[in-house]
Amino acid sequence: MRTPLLLLAGTLVLSGCNDLISPPRVAGYEYRLFEARDGGGVDTLAFRWPRQELPVRFWVAPDNDLRVHLATAITRWEDAFLYGEWRGTIVDDSSAADIHVFNRPPSAGDAPSNLRRLESMAPECRGAYDFSTNAASTVLIRPMRLYVWPRVLGDAPNLDRCYSITTTHEVGHALGIFEHSPSNADVMFSDPTLDGLSVQDRATAELLYHQRITITPGPR
Ligand SMILES: [Zn+2]
Repeated sequence: MRTPLLLLAGTLVLSGCNDLISPPRVAGYEYRLFEARDGGGVDTLAFRWPRQELPVRFWVAPDNDLRVHLATAITRWEDAFLYGEWRGTIVDDSSAADIHVFNRPPSAGDAPSNLRRLESMAPECRGAYDFSTNAASTVLIRPMRLYVWPRVLGDAPNLDRCYSITTTHEVGHALGIFEHSPSNADVMFSDPTLDGLSVQDRATAELLYHQRITITPGPR
Protein backbone atom coordinates (compact mmCIF):
# COMPACT_ATOMS: atom_id res chain seq x y z
CA MET A 1 0.00 0.00 0.00
CA ARG A 2 2.88 2.41 0.71
CA THR A 3 4.24 2.71 -2.79
CA PRO A 4 0.99 3.63 -4.56
CA LEU A 5 0.26 6.22 -1.88
CA LEU A 6 3.70 7.80 -2.35
CA LEU A 7 3.27 7.81 -6.10
CA LEU A 8 -0.09 9.43 -5.71
CA ALA A 9 1.38 12.10 -3.45
CA GLY A 10 4.17 12.71 -5.98
CA THR A 11 1.66 13.09 -8.76
CA LEU A 12 -0.32 15.61 -6.78
CA VAL A 13 2.77 17.70 -6.06
CA LEU A 14 3.82 17.71 -9.69
CA SER A 15 0.34 18.68 -10.77
CA GLY A 16 0.39 21.57 -8.29
CA CYS A 17 3.73 22.81 -9.64
CA ASN A 18 2.44 22.67 -13.19
CA ASP A 19 -0.52 24.77 -12.20
CA LEU A 20 1.79 27.42 -10.77
CA ILE A 21 4.15 27.47 -13.73
CA SER A 22 1.47 27.45 -16.43
CA PRO A 23 -1.71 29.25 -15.37
CA PRO A 24 -4.50 29.06 -17.94
CA ARG A 25 -3.85 31.80 -20.46
CA VAL A 26 -6.84 33.54 -22.01
CA ALA A 27 -5.98 35.79 -24.90
CA GLY A 28 -9.34 37.52 -25.37
CA TYR A 29 -10.83 38.29 -28.76
CA GLU A 30 -10.54 41.21 -31.17
CA TYR A 31 -12.12 44.39 -29.76
CA ARG A 32 -10.99 46.91 -32.35
CA LEU A 33 -13.11 48.01 -35.29
CA PHE A 34 -11.53 47.84 -38.75
CA GLU A 35 -13.04 50.24 -41.26
CA ALA A 36 -12.34 50.64 -44.97
CA ARG A 37 -10.89 54.08 -45.64
CA ASP A 38 -12.41 56.16 -48.46
CA GLY A 39 -9.16 56.45 -50.36
CA GLY A 40 -8.25 52.79 -49.79
CA GLY A 41 -6.64 50.99 -46.87
CA VAL A 42 -8.06 50.27 -43.46
CA ASP A 43 -8.55 52.37 -40.32
CA THR A 44 -8.20 50.67 -36.95
CA LEU A 45 -10.52 52.18 -34.35
CA ALA A 46 -9.97 51.54 -30.64
CA PHE A 47 -11.78 53.21 -27.77
CA ARG A 48 -11.99 53.00 -24.00
CA TRP A 49 -13.11 55.45 -21.37
CA PRO A 50 -10.19 57.38 -19.85
CA ARG A 51 -9.87 57.15 -16.07
CA GLN A 52 -10.87 60.79 -15.55
CA GLU A 53 -14.23 60.10 -17.24
CA LEU A 54 -15.21 57.41 -14.71
CA PRO A 55 -17.78 56.50 -13.70
CA VAL A 56 -19.35 56.43 -17.16
CA ARG A 57 -22.87 57.83 -16.89
CA PHE A 58 -25.78 55.87 -18.31
CA TRP A 59 -29.27 57.25 -18.64
CA VAL A 60 -32.41 55.12 -18.92
CA ALA A 61 -35.99 56.22 -18.19
CA PRO A 62 -36.67 55.70 -14.45
CA ASP A 63 -39.69 53.40 -14.91
CA ASN A 64 -38.21 51.39 -17.77
CA ASP A 65 -38.00 47.58 -17.76
CA LEU A 66 -34.34 47.79 -18.77
CA ARG A 67 -33.24 49.73 -15.70
CA VAL A 68 -32.70 46.68 -13.49
CA HIS A 69 -30.85 44.88 -16.29
CA LEU A 70 -28.67 47.91 -16.92
CA ALA A 71 -27.68 48.00 -13.25
CA THR A 72 -26.79 44.29 -13.43
CA ALA A 73 -24.81 44.77 -16.64
CA ILE A 74 -22.78 47.63 -15.14
CA THR A 75 -21.93 45.54 -12.07
CA ARG A 76 -20.94 42.55 -14.22
CA TRP A 77 -18.49 44.59 -16.28
CA GLU A 78 -17.11 46.44 -13.25
CA ASP A 79 -16.38 43.05 -11.71
CA ALA A 80 -14.34 42.06 -14.78
CA PHE A 81 -11.62 44.51 -13.73
CA LEU A 82 -9.12 43.97 -10.96
CA TYR A 83 -8.31 47.62 -10.28
CA GLY A 84 -11.48 49.54 -11.15
CA GLU A 85 -10.24 50.39 -14.65
CA TRP A 86 -13.87 50.85 -15.69
CA ARG A 87 -16.87 51.95 -13.64
CA GLY A 88 -20.40 52.95 -14.57
CA THR A 89 -23.41 54.54 -12.94
CA ILE A 90 -27.03 55.35 -13.83
CA VAL A 91 -28.03 59.02 -13.77
CA ASP A 92 -31.50 60.56 -13.95
CA ASP A 93 -30.56 63.58 -16.06
CA SER A 94 -30.18 62.53 -19.69
CA SER A 95 -28.27 65.72 -20.54
CA ALA A 96 -25.55 64.72 -18.04
CA ALA A 97 -25.18 61.19 -19.45
CA ASP A 98 -22.49 59.68 -21.69
CA ILE A 99 -24.74 56.87 -22.88
CA HIS A 100 -28.49 56.77 -23.49
CA VAL A 101 -30.33 53.45 -23.20
CA PHE A 102 -33.63 52.88 -24.98
CA ASN A 103 -36.21 50.09 -24.80
CA ARG A 104 -37.08 50.43 -28.50
CA PRO A 105 -35.48 49.97 -31.92
CA PRO A 106 -33.32 52.77 -33.34
CA SER A 107 -35.31 55.31 -35.34
CA ALA A 108 -34.33 57.59 -38.22
CA GLY A 109 -33.98 60.55 -35.86
CA ASP A 110 -31.28 58.71 -33.90
CA ALA A 111 -28.81 58.62 -36.77
CA PRO A 112 -26.24 61.43 -36.61
CA SER A 113 -23.48 61.69 -39.19
CA ASN A 114 -20.56 59.27 -39.27
CA LEU A 115 -22.60 56.68 -37.39
CA ARG A 116 -21.55 53.08 -36.69
CA ARG A 117 -24.15 50.55 -35.66
CA LEU A 118 -23.63 47.03 -34.31
CA GLU A 119 -26.66 44.79 -33.91
CA SER A 120 -27.19 41.66 -31.90
CA MET A 121 -29.99 39.14 -32.03
CA ALA A 122 -31.32 36.69 -29.47
CA PRO A 123 -34.61 34.81 -29.90
CA GLU A 124 -36.86 37.03 -27.77
CA CYS A 125 -35.24 40.44 -28.13
CA ARG A 126 -32.77 42.42 -30.16
CA GLY A 127 -30.12 44.96 -29.39
CA ALA A 128 -28.19 47.69 -31.17
CA TYR A 129 -25.31 49.96 -30.32
CA ASP A 130 -24.63 53.32 -31.97
CA PHE A 131 -21.64 55.55 -31.72
CA SER A 132 -20.57 58.54 -33.77
CA THR A 133 -17.27 60.30 -34.22
CA ASN A 134 -15.90 63.37 -35.91
CA ALA A 135 -14.94 62.96 -39.57
CA ALA A 136 -11.38 61.98 -38.69
CA SER A 137 -12.67 59.21 -36.36
CA THR A 138 -10.58 60.55 -33.49
CA VAL A 139 -13.23 62.12 -31.22
CA LEU A 140 -16.29 60.38 -29.84
CA ILE A 141 -19.52 62.37 -30.03
CA ARG A 142 -21.58 61.90 -26.88
CA PRO A 143 -23.98 60.38 -26.11
CA MET A 144 -23.51 56.81 -27.30
CA ARG A 145 -26.84 55.01 -27.68
CA LEU A 146 -27.87 51.50 -26.71
CA TYR A 147 -31.16 49.89 -27.77
CA VAL A 148 -32.74 46.71 -26.48
CA TRP A 149 -36.26 45.80 -27.57
CA PRO A 150 -38.60 42.79 -27.71
CA ARG A 151 -39.05 40.64 -30.80
CA VAL A 152 -42.12 38.99 -29.32
CA LEU A 153 -45.42 40.39 -28.14
CA GLY A 154 -46.37 40.66 -24.49
CA ASP A 155 -44.60 38.93 -21.63
CA ALA A 156 -42.75 36.07 -23.29
CA PRO A 157 -41.35 33.72 -20.63
CA ASN A 158 -37.73 34.35 -21.61
CA LEU A 159 -37.97 38.05 -22.41
CA ASP A 160 -36.51 39.07 -19.06
CA ARG A 161 -33.53 36.78 -19.54
CA CYS A 162 -33.05 38.07 -23.06
CA TYR A 163 -33.08 41.64 -21.75
CA SER A 164 -30.43 40.68 -19.23
CA ILE A 165 -28.18 39.03 -21.84
CA THR A 166 -28.62 41.71 -24.47
CA THR A 167 -28.19 44.66 -22.11
CA THR A 168 -24.94 43.13 -20.83
CA HIS A 169 -23.84 42.64 -24.46
CA GLU A 170 -24.61 46.25 -25.43
CA VAL A 171 -22.87 47.65 -22.34
CA GLY A 172 -19.84 45.62 -23.46
CA HIS A 173 -19.86 47.62 -26.70
CA ALA A 174 -20.18 50.84 -24.69
CA LEU A 175 -16.99 49.89 -22.80
CA GLY A 176 -15.20 49.89 -26.15
CA ILE A 177 -15.51 46.28 -27.31
CA PHE A 178 -16.35 47.21 -30.88
CA GLU A 179 -16.21 43.73 -32.39
CA HIS A 180 -18.21 40.55 -31.77
CA SER A 181 -16.58 37.49 -30.30
CA PRO A 182 -16.34 34.54 -32.70
CA SER A 183 -17.36 32.16 -29.87
CA ASN A 184 -20.97 31.50 -28.83
CA ALA A 185 -19.65 30.89 -25.29
CA ASP A 186 -19.11 34.66 -24.87
CA VAL A 187 -21.70 37.34 -24.15
CA MET A 188 -20.09 39.44 -26.91
CA PHE A 189 -21.02 36.82 -29.53
CA SER A 190 -23.31 38.40 -32.15
CA ASP A 191 -26.19 36.14 -31.14
CA PRO A 192 -25.45 35.82 -27.42
CA THR A 193 -26.95 33.19 -25.10
CA LEU A 194 -24.66 33.56 -22.07
CA ASP A 195 -26.35 35.48 -19.24
CA GLY A 196 -23.17 36.85 -17.70
CA LEU A 197 -19.52 37.22 -18.67
CA SER A 198 -17.19 34.44 -19.78
CA VAL A 199 -13.50 34.27 -18.90
CA GLN A 200 -12.82 35.46 -22.43
CA ASP A 201 -15.16 38.45 -22.08
CA ARG A 202 -13.34 39.48 -18.91
CA ALA A 203 -9.92 38.99 -20.46
CA THR A 204 -10.90 41.08 -23.49
CA ALA A 205 -12.14 43.95 -21.33
CA GLU A 206 -8.96 43.87 -19.23
CA LEU A 207 -6.82 43.84 -22.35
CA LEU A 208 -8.70 46.75 -23.90
CA TYR A 209 -8.23 48.90 -20.79
CA HIS A 210 -4.47 48.51 -20.98
CA GLN A 211 -3.98 49.23 -24.68
CA ARG A 212 -3.47 52.28 -26.84
CA ILE A 213 -6.64 53.93 -28.15
CA THR A 214 -7.38 56.00 -31.26
CA ILE A 215 -10.65 57.70 -30.19
CA THR A 216 -11.08 60.00 -27.19
CA PRO A 217 -14.39 61.30 -25.80
CA GLY A 218 -15.46 64.78 -26.92
CA PRO A 219 -17.25 67.30 -24.68
CA ARG A 220 -20.41 66.17 -22.93
ZN1 LIG B 1 -23.24 43.52 -30.63
